[in-house]
Amino acid sequence: MKRWLTFCLSMLMVLSAGPMVFGAETAEDISGINAEIPEEVTAEMEDSLSMEEEILSAEEEASADEGQIQEIPATDYIPVLMYHHFAQRDMGRGNGVVVTQAELEEQIKYFKEQGYRIISLEELDHLLTRAEMNPKEESGLGLSAKYLCITMDDGYYSNYDLAYPIFRQERVPAAIFAITDSVTNHVGLRKFTWKEAGEMVKNSQVRIYNHTSNHIAADDTDEDSFVAAVLEGQEALESHLAQQRDTVTALAYPNGENTPEIQQRLLEAGVRLQFTVTPGVVNRNTSRTAIPRIMVVSGMTGAEILERASRLAAATME
Ligand SMILES: [Zn+2]
Repeated sequence: MKRWLTFCLSMLMVLSAGPMVFGAETAEDISGINAEIPEEVTAEMEDSLSMEEEILSAEEEASADEGQIQEIPATDYIPVLMYHHFAQRDMGRGNGVVVTQAELEEQIKYFKEQGYRIISLEELDHLLTRAEMNPKEESGLGLSAKYLCITMDDGYYSNYDLAYPIFRQERVPAAIFAITDSVTNHVGLRKFTWKEAGEMVKNSQVRIYNHTSNHIAADDTDEDSFVAAVLEGQEALESHLAQQRDTVTALAYPNGENTPEIQQRLLEAGVRLQFTVTPGVVNRNTSRTAIPRIMVVSGMTGAEILERASRLAAATME
């Protein structure tokens, strides 16, 4: 596992060096997305993957000391998955952010077969509220069923072109964190348009949430400018997607960066769910202002994702 993660990271470094690495791949192969993986994604990935490697190797050592692997019931935690790009066909294991449409379909079908209910952010908000209102000693959520959440960062066109048809077909909710200026001004790698976003909201359980207006990371600017970028993103969502009512106000922090002061300010401004790229699962001790996620990288099966969730649960829960 460790070797694979290292491989993944080194592939990312190779990939981020330039588009020529893809050789004969055409733009169509990756759904109109330039083959160059944007820096914003690699930063988010590298942070998350290196943290995950640390947590999981600590867990391996701990379970080796105890002579057994601790198993937490899947009804005691909620994995929140984080995706970025999608492609039509296999780009090779280690291509990080690019998950194929077929992989996504297999994963969702597998989660369902295993008895998982894929829930919306509104349901997640409700479950967190319930946990907050009934404080208990143990960290398990004690749910009546196994739940899982699907999120995607940045708002790429492939979310609309390749992932949305699967969410629609499988009738499952999914959350997209969009960089609102990029949607409005068609900045950077191809993003879906507001019209396409509206279509997803109208015809499926896909909902669009906030990833700031400009993808500025909190550690790259001052607190006031960062909060302003979050509020601008929220305003853009509300004005372009008026049809998206009754959604919880949620934010995914660019690169996962935040501070306790920012978390508190945004919570007071009504941002009820705040997601990071810290690897982990949602449990009773999870703060709604620092929700951990599990990054899905290319080549993973549904079974591998659930195994990763179970190991992260064991590593982060008592
Ligand atoms: Zn991002």
